[in-house]
Amino acid sequence: MNPTQQNITVIRGDGIGPDIIDAATKILDKVGCNFNYEYADAGLMALENHGELLPQETLDLIAKNKVALKGPLTTPVGEGFTSINVSLRKQFKLYANLRPVLSFKGTKARYEDIDIITVRENTQGMYSGLGQVVSADGNEAEAVSIITREGAEKIVVFAYELARREGRKKVTAVHKANILKSTSGLFLKVAREVAARYPDIQSDEMIVDNCCMQLVMNPHQFDIIVTTNLFGDILSDLCAGLVGGLGMAPGANIGEDCAIFEAVHGSAPDIAGMNLANPTSVILASIQMLEYLNMADKADRIRAALKDVIESGDRTTRDLGGEHGTLEFTDAVLERL
Ligand code: NAD
Repeated sequence: MNPTQQNITVIRGDGIGPDIIDAATKILDKVGCNFNYEYADAGLMALENHGELLPQETLDLIAKNKVALKGPLTTPVGEGFTSINVSLRKQFKLYANLRPVLSFKGTKARYEDIDIITVRENTQGMYSGLGQVVSADGNEAEAVSIITREGAEKIVVFAYELARREGRKKVTAVHKANILKSTSGLFLKVAREVAARYPDIQSDEMIVDNCCMQLVMNPHQFDIIVTTNLFGDILSDLCAGLVGGLGMAPGANIGEDCAIFEAVHGSAPDIAGMNLANPTSVILASIQMLEYLNMADKADRIRAALKDVIESGDRTTRDLGGEHGTLEFTDAVLERL
Protein backbone atom coordinates (compact mmCIF):
# COMPACT_ATOMS: atom_id res chain seq x y z
CA MET A 1 0.00 0.00 0.00
CA ASN A 2 1.14 3.51 -0.81
CA PRO A 3 1.68 5.32 2.58
CA THR A 4 -0.44 8.28 1.41
CA GLN A 5 -3.39 6.04 0.59
CA GLN A 6 -6.50 6.26 2.77
CA ASN A 7 -7.64 2.87 4.06
CA ILE A 8 -11.37 2.26 3.82
CA THR A 9 -13.06 -0.73 5.44
CA VAL A 10 -15.64 -2.09 3.00
CA ILE A 11 -18.47 -4.37 4.09
CA ARG A 12 -20.28 -5.45 0.93
CA GLY A 13 -23.24 -6.75 2.92
CA ASP A 14 -26.16 -9.01 2.07
CA GLY A 15 -28.81 -9.16 -0.66
CA ILE A 16 -28.31 -6.25 -3.08
CA GLY A 17 -25.35 -5.02 -0.96
CA PRO A 18 -22.48 -6.44 -3.08
CA ASP A 19 -23.97 -5.07 -6.32
CA ILE A 20 -24.44 -1.51 -5.06
CA ILE A 21 -21.18 -1.40 -3.07
CA ASP A 22 -19.21 -2.57 -6.12
CA ALA A 23 -20.90 0.17 -8.16
CA ALA A 24 -19.79 2.76 -5.59
CA THR A 25 -16.16 1.60 -5.39
CA LYS A 26 -15.87 1.60 -9.20
CA ILE A 27 -17.06 5.20 -9.22
CA LEU A 28 -14.70 6.22 -6.38
CA ASP A 29 -11.80 4.66 -8.31
CA LYS A 30 -12.83 6.38 -11.52
CA VAL A 31 -12.49 9.88 -9.97
CA GLY A 32 -9.02 8.96 -8.69
CA CYS A 33 -9.70 8.57 -4.98
CA ASN A 34 -6.84 6.10 -4.69
CA PHE A 35 -8.37 4.38 -1.66
CA ASN A 36 -7.03 1.11 -0.31
CA TYR A 37 -10.14 -1.01 0.33
CA GLU A 38 -9.92 -3.58 3.11
CA TYR A 39 -12.87 -5.95 2.89
CA ALA A 40 -14.63 -7.40 5.93
CA ASP A 41 -17.70 -9.58 6.47
CA ALA A 42 -20.81 -8.82 8.51
CA GLY A 43 -24.38 -10.08 8.39
CA LEU A 44 -25.45 -13.34 6.77
CA MET A 45 -22.19 -13.59 4.85
CA ALA A 46 -20.27 -13.45 8.13
CA LEU A 47 -22.58 -15.99 9.75
CA GLU A 48 -21.77 -18.40 6.91
CA ASN A 49 -18.03 -17.69 6.82
CA HIS A 50 -17.25 -17.12 10.51
CA GLY A 51 -20.23 -18.49 12.47
CA GLU A 52 -21.22 -15.07 13.81
CA LEU A 53 -22.97 -11.99 12.42
CA LEU A 54 -20.36 -9.46 13.48
CA PRO A 55 -16.90 -11.07 13.77
CA GLN A 56 -14.22 -9.52 15.95
CA GLU A 57 -11.88 -9.13 12.95
CA THR A 58 -14.50 -6.91 11.27
CA LEU A 59 -14.73 -4.75 14.39
CA ASP A 60 -10.92 -4.59 14.55
CA LEU A 61 -10.69 -3.47 10.93
CA ILE A 62 -13.30 -0.72 11.41
CA ALA A 63 -11.44 0.44 14.54
CA LYS A 64 -8.13 0.48 12.66
CA ASN A 65 -9.28 2.35 9.54
CA LYS A 66 -11.85 4.67 11.22
CA VAL A 67 -13.81 5.04 7.97
CA ALA A 68 -16.10 2.34 6.56
CA LEU A 69 -18.44 1.96 3.60
CA LYS A 70 -21.13 -0.58 4.35
CA GLY A 71 -23.79 -2.38 2.34
CA PRO A 72 -27.11 -3.29 3.95
CA LEU A 73 -27.07 -6.25 6.31
CA THR A 74 -29.75 -8.83 6.91
CA THR A 75 -30.43 -9.48 10.57
CA PRO A 76 -32.02 -12.95 10.75
CA VAL A 77 -35.47 -12.75 12.30
CA GLY A 78 -35.73 -14.76 15.49
CA GLU A 79 -34.58 -15.05 19.05
CA GLY A 80 -31.08 -14.09 20.05
CA PHE A 81 -30.01 -11.90 17.13
CA THR A 82 -29.31 -8.28 18.00
CA SER A 83 -29.40 -5.87 15.05
CA ILE A 84 -25.89 -5.65 13.60
CA ASN A 85 -26.40 -2.01 12.70
CA VAL A 86 -27.42 -1.10 16.24
CA SER A 87 -24.40 -3.04 17.57
CA LEU A 88 -22.01 -1.18 15.24
CA ARG A 89 -23.45 2.21 16.20
CA LYS A 90 -23.08 1.45 19.89
CA GLN A 91 -19.65 -0.17 19.64
CA PHE A 92 -18.13 2.81 17.79
CA LYS A 93 -20.24 5.46 19.58
CA LEU A 94 -21.63 6.69 16.25
CA TYR A 95 -23.95 9.16 17.94
CA ALA A 96 -25.10 11.09 14.86
CA ASN A 97 -26.92 9.67 11.87
CA LEU A 98 -27.02 12.17 9.03
CA ARG A 99 -29.69 11.36 6.46
CA PRO A 100 -30.02 13.94 3.66
CA VAL A 101 -32.64 13.78 0.93
CA LEU A 102 -32.33 15.84 -2.22
CA SER A 103 -34.64 15.99 -5.23
CA PHE A 104 -33.31 14.96 -8.61
CA LYS A 105 -35.39 15.82 -11.64
CA GLY A 106 -36.36 12.69 -13.52
CA THR A 107 -37.41 10.62 -10.50
CA LYS A 108 -40.96 9.48 -9.84
CA ALA A 109 -41.22 11.75 -6.79
CA ARG A 110 -44.26 13.73 -5.73
CA TYR A 111 -42.30 16.92 -5.11
CA GLU A 112 -39.47 18.91 -6.62
CA ASP A 113 -36.77 20.92 -4.86
CA ILE A 114 -36.74 18.93 -1.64
CA ASP A 115 -33.54 19.41 0.35
CA ILE A 116 -33.94 18.14 3.92
CA ILE A 117 -31.40 16.66 6.31
CA THR A 118 -32.60 14.48 9.16
CA VAL A 119 -30.10 14.41 12.02
CA ARG A 120 -31.03 11.34 14.04
CA GLU A 121 -29.65 10.56 17.49
CA ASN A 122 -28.14 7.16 16.88
CA THR A 123 -27.36 5.36 20.15
CA GLN A 124 -30.05 6.18 22.72
CA GLY A 125 -33.85 6.31 23.00
CA MET A 126 -35.84 3.21 22.18
CA TYR A 127 -32.69 1.58 20.75
CA SER A 128 -31.11 1.18 24.19
CA GLY A 129 -31.54 -2.58 23.73
CA LEU A 130 -32.98 -2.91 27.23
CA GLY A 131 -36.26 -4.73 27.37
CA GLN A 132 -37.81 -8.08 28.06
CA VAL A 133 -40.94 -10.15 28.32
CA VAL A 134 -42.01 -9.68 31.93
CA SER A 135 -44.82 -12.17 32.49
CA ALA A 136 -44.51 -15.93 32.78
CA ASP A 137 -47.12 -16.47 30.06
CA GLY A 138 -45.14 -14.28 27.64
CA ASN A 139 -48.04 -11.87 27.19
CA GLU A 140 -46.45 -8.79 28.73
CA ALA A 141 -43.30 -7.06 27.53
CA GLU A 142 -41.47 -3.87 28.32
CA ALA A 143 -38.71 -1.80 26.73
CA VAL A 144 -36.56 0.91 28.23
CA SER A 145 -35.93 4.21 26.49
CA ILE A 146 -32.91 6.17 27.68
CA ILE A 147 -32.16 9.81 26.92
CA THR A 148 -29.32 11.64 28.65
CA ARG A 149 -28.67 15.38 28.75
CA GLU A 150 -25.20 14.72 27.31
CA GLY A 151 -26.59 12.62 24.43
CA ALA A 152 -29.34 15.11 23.60
CA GLU A 153 -26.99 18.08 23.74
CA LYS A 154 -24.42 16.38 21.51
CA ILE A 155 -26.91 15.65 18.75
CA VAL A 156 -28.63 19.03 18.85
CA VAL A 157 -25.28 20.86 18.80
CA PHE A 158 -24.26 18.62 15.87
CA ALA A 159 -27.39 19.75 13.97
CA TYR A 160 -26.76 23.47 14.61
CA GLU A 161 -23.06 23.21 13.74
CA LEU A 162 -24.06 21.43 10.51
CA ALA A 163 -26.52 24.26 9.79
CA ARG A 164 -23.75 26.86 10.23
CA ARG A 165 -21.21 24.91 8.21
CA GLU A 166 -23.57 24.34 5.30
CA GLY A 167 -25.28 27.74 5.37
CA ARG A 168 -28.62 26.25 6.33
CA LYS A 169 -31.34 28.48 7.73
CA LYS A 170 -33.49 26.45 10.10
CA VAL A 171 -33.35 23.58 12.60
CA THR A 172 -36.60 21.88 13.65
CA ALA A 173 -36.47 19.79 16.83
CA VAL A 174 -38.99 16.96 16.58
CA HIS A 175 -40.29 15.34 19.77
CA LYS A 176 -43.29 13.85 21.60
CA ALA A 177 -42.79 15.71 24.87
CA ASN A 178 -46.53 16.08 25.44
CA ILE A 179 -46.81 12.31 26.08
CA LEU A 180 -43.27 11.02 26.66
CA LYS A 181 -42.68 13.65 29.29
CA SER A 182 -39.46 12.27 30.80
CA THR A 183 -37.46 11.21 27.73
CA SER A 184 -38.80 13.40 24.93
CA GLY A 185 -39.35 16.15 27.53
CA LEU A 186 -35.63 16.15 28.38
CA PHE A 187 -34.70 16.14 24.69
CA LEU A 188 -36.94 19.18 24.01
CA LYS A 189 -35.65 21.06 27.07
CA VAL A 190 -32.06 20.57 25.93
CA ALA A 191 -32.96 21.42 22.31
CA ARG A 192 -34.42 24.76 23.48
CA GLU A 193 -31.30 25.54 25.53
CA VAL A 194 -29.01 24.78 22.59
CA ALA A 195 -31.24 26.77 20.18
CA ALA A 196 -30.74 29.87 22.35
CA ARG A 197 -26.97 29.61 21.73
CA TYR A 198 -27.48 29.84 17.95
CA PRO A 199 -29.40 33.09 17.33
CA ASP A 200 -28.17 33.15 13.71
CA ILE A 201 -30.13 29.97 12.91
CA GLN A 202 -33.92 29.91 12.93
CA SER A 203 -35.23 27.36 15.46
CA ASP A 204 -38.54 25.55 15.35
CA GLU A 205 -40.05 22.63 17.24
CA MET A 206 -42.75 20.18 16.24
CA ILE A 207 -44.54 17.16 17.71
CA VAL A 208 -43.65 14.07 15.69
CA ASP A 209 -47.16 13.16 14.52
CA ASN A 210 -47.77 16.68 13.23
CA CYS A 211 -44.30 16.59 11.64
CA CYS A 212 -45.30 13.51 9.60
CA MET A 213 -48.37 15.30 8.29
CA GLN A 214 -46.44 18.53 7.62
CA LEU A 215 -43.73 16.62 5.72
CA VAL A 216 -46.35 15.16 3.41
CA MET A 217 -48.40 18.37 3.01
CA ASN A 218 -45.70 21.06 2.94
CA PRO A 219 -42.18 19.58 2.98
CA HIS A 220 -40.53 22.77 1.74
CA GLN A 221 -40.86 24.33 5.21
CA PHE A 222 -38.15 21.93 6.49
CA ASP A 223 -34.40 22.41 6.32
CA ILE A 224 -32.68 20.39 9.10
CA ILE A 225 -34.69 18.11 11.39
CA VAL A 226 -33.06 16.97 14.63
CA THR A 227 -34.71 14.22 16.62
CA THR A 228 -34.34 11.12 18.76
CA ASN A 229 -33.47 7.66 17.47
CA LEU A 230 -36.82 6.02 16.66
CA PHE A 231 -38.48 9.18 15.33
CA GLY A 232 -35.43 9.84 13.15
CA ASP A 233 -35.54 6.33 11.75
CA ILE A 234 -39.18 6.69 10.70
CA LEU A 235 -39.04 10.34 9.55
CA SER A 236 -35.98 9.72 7.36
CA ASP A 237 -37.79 6.93 5.48
CA LEU A 238 -40.73 9.29 5.04
CA CYS A 239 -38.32 11.91 3.67
CA ALA A 240 -36.84 9.30 1.28
CA GLY A 241 -40.37 8.79 -0.02
CA LEU A 242 -40.55 12.51 -0.87
CA VAL A 243 -37.61 12.23 -3.30
CA GLY A 244 -38.40 8.96 -5.05
CA GLY A 245 -37.90 6.20 -2.50
CA LEU A 246 -35.30 4.34 -0.51
CA GLY A 247 -32.97 3.91 -3.49
CA MET A 248 -32.26 7.66 -3.20
CA ALA A 249 -31.41 7.86 0.51
CA PRO A 250 -27.91 7.73 2.03
CA GLY A 251 -26.91 7.77 5.68
CA ALA A 252 -23.71 8.69 7.52
CA ASN A 253 -23.12 7.34 11.02
CA ILE A 254 -20.70 9.75 12.65
CA GLY A 255 -18.82 9.37 15.93
CA GLU A 256 -15.93 11.24 17.58
CA ASP A 257 -13.24 9.44 15.62
CA CYS A 258 -14.97 6.90 13.41
CA ALA A 259 -17.65 7.00 10.71
CA ILE A 260 -19.65 4.41 8.76
CA PHE A 261 -21.38 5.35 5.52
CA GLU A 262 -24.32 3.33 4.19
CA ALA A 263 -27.66 3.32 2.39
CA VAL A 264 -30.75 3.93 4.51
CA HIS A 265 -32.51 0.93 2.97
CA GLY A 266 -32.08 -2.76 3.74
CA SER A 267 -30.80 -5.72 1.76
CA ALA A 268 -33.93 -5.85 -0.48
CA PRO A 269 -34.14 -9.67 -0.65
CA ASP A 270 -37.02 -9.38 -3.15
CA ILE A 271 -34.66 -8.04 -5.85
CA ALA A 272 -31.31 -9.49 -4.71
CA GLY A 273 -29.13 -11.00 -7.44
CA MET A 274 -31.40 -9.66 -10.20
CA ASN A 275 -29.35 -6.60 -11.29
CA LEU A 276 -32.36 -4.41 -10.39
CA ALA A 277 -31.08 -2.39 -7.44
CA ASN A 278 -30.65 1.34 -7.76
CA PRO A 279 -27.12 2.08 -6.49
CA THR A 280 -27.82 5.82 -5.98
CA SER A 281 -28.21 5.49 -2.20
CA VAL A 282 -24.73 4.03 -1.73
CA ILE A 283 -23.19 6.36 -4.33
CA LEU A 284 -24.64 9.28 -2.33
CA ALA A 285 -23.25 7.68 0.86
CA SER A 286 -19.83 7.61 -0.85
CA ILE A 287 -20.26 11.32 -1.58
CA GLN A 288 -20.92 11.88 2.14
CA MET A 289 -17.75 9.89 2.87
CA LEU A 290 -15.69 12.05 0.49
CA GLU A 291 -17.02 15.21 2.13
CA TYR A 292 -16.13 13.76 5.56
CA LEU A 293 -12.59 13.11 4.23
CA ASN A 294 -12.33 16.70 2.88
CA MET A 295 -12.45 15.52 -0.74
CA ALA A 296 -15.32 17.80 -1.75
CA ASP A 297 -14.06 18.31 -5.32
CA LYS A 298 -14.38 14.60 -6.06
CA ALA A 299 -17.74 14.48 -4.27
CA ASP A 300 -19.02 17.32 -6.48
CA ARG A 301 -17.88 15.55 -9.66
CA ILE A 302 -19.70 12.35 -8.72
CA ARG A 303 -22.85 14.24 -7.69
CA ALA A 304 -22.91 16.09 -11.03
CA ALA A 305 -22.50 12.86 -13.04
CA LEU A 306 -25.20 11.10 -11.01
CA LYS A 307 -27.56 14.06 -11.42
CA ASP A 308 -27.04 14.06 -15.16
CA VAL A 309 -27.74 10.32 -15.46
CA ILE A 310 -30.96 10.55 -13.44
CA GLU A 311 -32.20 13.78 -15.05
CA SER A 312 -31.57 12.54 -18.58
CA GLY A 313 -33.03 9.10 -17.79
CA ASP A 314 -29.94 7.48 -19.31
CA ARG A 315 -29.96 3.77 -18.36
CA THR A 316 -31.85 4.37 -15.10
CA THR A 317 -33.25 1.57 -12.92
CA ARG A 318 -36.92 0.61 -12.67
CA ASP A 319 -37.61 2.41 -9.39
CA LEU A 320 -36.59 5.61 -11.24
CA GLY A 321 -38.93 4.85 -14.13
CA GLY A 322 -36.20 3.35 -16.34
CA GLU A 323 -35.73 -0.14 -17.70
CA HIS A 324 -32.10 -0.85 -16.89
CA GLY A 325 -30.11 -2.59 -14.23
CA THR A 326 -27.50 -1.73 -11.60
CA LEU A 327 -24.58 -2.43 -13.96
CA GLU A 328 -25.91 -0.31 -16.85
CA PHE A 329 -26.79 2.57 -14.51
CA THR A 330 -23.28 2.44 -13.04
CA ASP A 331 -21.76 2.46 -16.55
CA ALA A 332 -23.79 5.58 -17.39
CA VAL A 333 -22.30 7.36 -14.33
CA LEU A 334 -18.78 6.07 -15.07
CA GLU A 335 -18.94 7.33 -18.68
CA ARG A 336 -19.68 10.86 -17.47
CA LEU A 337 -16.66 10.80 -15.18
P1 NAD B 1 -35.59 -2.96 2.33
O1 NAD B 1 -35.16 -1.56 2.53
O2 NAD B 1 -34.54 -3.96 2.10
O3 NAD B 1 -36.63 -3.03 1.09
C1 NAD B 1 -37.85 -2.30 1.07
C2 NAD B 1 -38.35 -2.16 -0.38
O4 NAD B 1 -37.54 -1.18 -1.06
C3 NAD B 1 -38.23 -3.45 -1.19
O5 NAD B 1 -39.31 -3.55 -2.06
C4 NAD B 1 -36.94 -3.26 -1.97
O6 NAD B 1 -36.91 -3.99 -3.21
C5 NAD B 1 -36.92 -1.75 -2.21
N1 NAD B 1 -35.54 -1.25 -2.29
C6 NAD B 1 -34.67 -1.09 -1.26
N2 NAD B 1 -33.50 -0.63 -1.70
C7 NAD B 1 -33.62 -0.49 -3.05
C8 NAD B 1 -32.73 -0.07 -4.07
N3 NAD B 1 -31.46 0.32 -3.81
N4 NAD B 1 -33.19 -0.06 -5.36
C9 NAD B 1 -34.43 -0.43 -5.66
N5 NAD B 1 -35.33 -0.84 -4.71
C10 NAD B 1 -34.92 -0.88 -3.42
O7 NAD B 1 -36.47 -3.35 3.61
P2 NAD B 1 -36.94 -4.76 4.18
O8 NAD B 1 -37.36 -5.64 3.05
O9 NAD B 1 -37.89 -4.42 5.26
O10 NAD B 1 -35.63 -5.38 4.87
C11 NAD B 1 -34.83 -6.42 4.30
C12 NAD B 1 -33.68 -6.74 5.25
O11 NAD B 1 -32.82 -5.61 5.37
C13 NAD B 1 -34.07 -7.10 6.68
O12 NAD B 1 -33.29 -8.20 7.10
C14 NAD B 1 -33.71 -5.90 7.51
O13 NAD B 1 -33.34 -6.23 8.82
C15 NAD B 1 -32.51 -5.36 6.74
N6 NAD B 1 -32.25 -3.91 6.91
C16 NAD B 1 -30.95 -3.53 6.94
C17 NAD B 1 -30.63 -2.18 7.01
C18 NAD B 1 -29.17 -1.80 7.02
O14 NAD B 1 -28.32 -2.66 6.95
N7 NAD B 1 -28.84 -0.52 7.14
C19 NAD B 1 -31.65 -1.22 7.02
C20 NAD B 1 -32.98 -1.64 6.94
C21 NAD B 1 -33.29 -3.01 6.87
